[in-house]
Amino acid sequence: MACAALGSTPELAPQLHGLVSKLSSSQNPQIQVSILDMYVKYGYIHQAVIQLYTMEKPTLFCWNSMIFGLSKSSSTLNNALELFHMMPERNTVSWNIIISSLNQHGFREDAISMFSEMNRQGYKSDPVTYAAALESSVAVHAQIIKLHSTADTSLGHALLNSYAKTRDLEAAGKAFDELTRPSIESWTAVISLFAQSGYHEKAITLFNQMRMVPLAPDRTSFSQFLGACSSKDHLVLGIQLHGLVSKTGYATCTIVANALMGMYSKTGIFHYVRIIFQSMTLRNVLSWNVILESFVKNGRREEVMKMYVCMLREEEARPDSVTFAILFSVCADLAVLNLGKQLLSHSARLGLDSDVAVANSAVKFYAKCGKIEEARKIFDSIGVKDLVSWNTIISGYAQNGFARKALQSFECMLQTGINPDSVTFLGLLSACRHAGLVTEGKYYFSCMGSYRNIEPAQEHFACMVDLLGRSGLVEEAKKMIDEMEIQPSVEIWGALLSSCRTHSRVELAEIAMENLLKLDSTHAGGFSLLSHVYAESGMVNATAGMRKLMKERGIKKSPGCSWLEFDGKIHVFAADESNHPKIADVMVALNMITISLRAWGYEDKGTARGHHSEKLAIAFGLMNLPSWNSIHVMKNLRVCGDCHGFCKAVSLVYGRELVIRDASRFHHFSGGFCSCQDFW
Ligand code: ZN
Ligand code: ZN
Repeated sequence: MACAALGSTPELAPQLHGLVSKLSSSQNPQIQVSILDMYVKYGYIHQAVIQLYTMEKPTLFCWNSMIFGLSKSSSTLNNALELFHMMPERNTVSWNIIISSLNQHGFREDAISMFSEMNRQGYKSDPVTYAAALESSVAVHAQIIKLHSTADTSLGHALLNSYAKTRDLEAAGKAFDELTRPSIESWTAVISLFAQSGYHEKAITLFNQMRMVPLAPDRTSFSQFLGACSSKDHLVLGIQLHGLVSKTGYATCTIVANALMGMYSKTGIFHYVRIIFQSMTLRNVLSWNVILESFVKNGRREEVMKMYVCMLREEEARPDSVTFAILFSVCADLAVLNLGKQLLSHSARLGLDSDVAVANSAVKFYAKCGKIEEARKIFDSIGVKDLVSWNTIISGYAQNGFARKALQSFECMLQTGINPDSVTFLGLLSACRHAGLVTEGKYYFSCMGSYRNIEPAQEHFACMVDLLGRSGLVEEAKKMIDEMEIQPSVEIWGALLSSCRTHSRVELAEIAMENLLKLDSTHAGGFSLLSHVYAESGMVNATAGMRKLMKERGIKKSPGCSWLEFDGKIHVFAADESNHPKIADVMVALNMITISLRAWGYEDKGTARGHHSEKLAIAFGLMNLPSWNSIHVMKNLRVCGDCHGFCKAVSLVYGRELVIRDASRFHHFSGGFCSCQDFW
């Protein structure tokens, strides 16, 4: 055993055998098997045959191993066949070896008759068999049809299955049509093939045809059919199927219930997902993944974590890589650092931390919590990094304001031979945007179309307009919008409008607003931006006009809220009304803090309009978190200039590090400075 695993040291094999014989333990059957396997692996076929004949009762594994060894060379293929016929018992592996070696040595017809013999004797074909027997599928299929009548259902079904496995829709459809009396398995195979390949119409037609014949679908069939109905267009049929499975008693089967949940989750009917989940008697990991996913889709992220705790109590449902990918994405969105860290150790205990999908989502989680060094550590630990790994670290650097590192990572990625996609470029452009790197931004933007053949989408344009506009190149930004081949989105006009505010460009701001309102007549952000543009240009009447218009149209600014993690809970603060139990204490503390900051020269503008939510969250953090902890606050909107100044002052006066994640990026405050260098 040890030797077969040694790999590159075949010359050791006979020596080891010598050693083993001397130790006279070669009567041990376990060792005999290993020695035989070792000889076969290193091509000592003669020794292997001797070994086989000296064994008292060679196991099936030994026989298979020997046939495999003999069938590799055409000179010993006949011996392999002889041995195959001598075998006391065979399994699918034995058949697979003999069929594929006949094929490899060019004896295609023999391979086919062997394949049909296998079917006749009732052995179950697996994907390896199909791949082996049907290497040149069309020719072989024709021959099979010549050799056997297609009424031979098991063979026909085997063919159908092999086409389904290789996703050859046309051939599968043909093979199905040739079946005189398709079994339920054949129906299931062909229906699910079409459904999974996106041909829902065809799948539904076939399903209706199937209902005309007296066949009773089993649980597998039902789960496949439900999978075919997982789109809004076919939901009506899906609901009928739900009724049918309830009547036939299959609805509580784990596999069928999972499919039902999947269907309702994909079509957005979360209420049913929950009902089915609760009615299940035996849930597996798939059931849990579907319910967790549906909570995420439904925007109920906090509950995902509670569900996970329940999941851990059920023995049948061990979390898998999909579970952890969902959980990490939730922790990333909520930026709950401690919960995420606990999950990391869970995943490591289950041996899933080396799974690339899990690792990628852990990188994203750390990056979104503002812990970019930790994200980097996980990223470096990934053995084989895929495109998602690289995209995640690039956009992580971008969000955290480390533009140069994002660009460097991109160069490293190219060196490893991985090709960028549109997500990669979005990461690069947003890195440039957050750091005001105009030249680099223009360069990468031009790279996309010209030599990477990636069409820039709305998000890419929005990044560029924002980058150009904020850097004072407002005209150039407008020109870019005018030259777009696709209709500019709300975000693009919004970006132009907001740079018009920074650079006091009233006329352009009005053009941007006009276009913005064509797309969204109640865009609250637009109204408030334009009224700021007017106010800052001293146009008092126009400002009042905007405020009046907003009132008339019933437009309210979306309420700002901020949150932070403390003591295993998420504490949420809102600008106008906070129902946090400690809000009165927090307000008192905030006033004290503001007074002490004023002594250092901070001028606050917040008190007249009440406090912005991030100030409340920071005050809460200062009150409760130990002084060596940095304070991490998340906010749903962009941080304003006043609060930005407040954070800088707190980081200086209180000597505390603050990390604020707002709607667009991170701000790391320390010693009176921010990582964004006041460019955001
Ligand atoms: Zn603010
Ligand atoms: Zn900043």
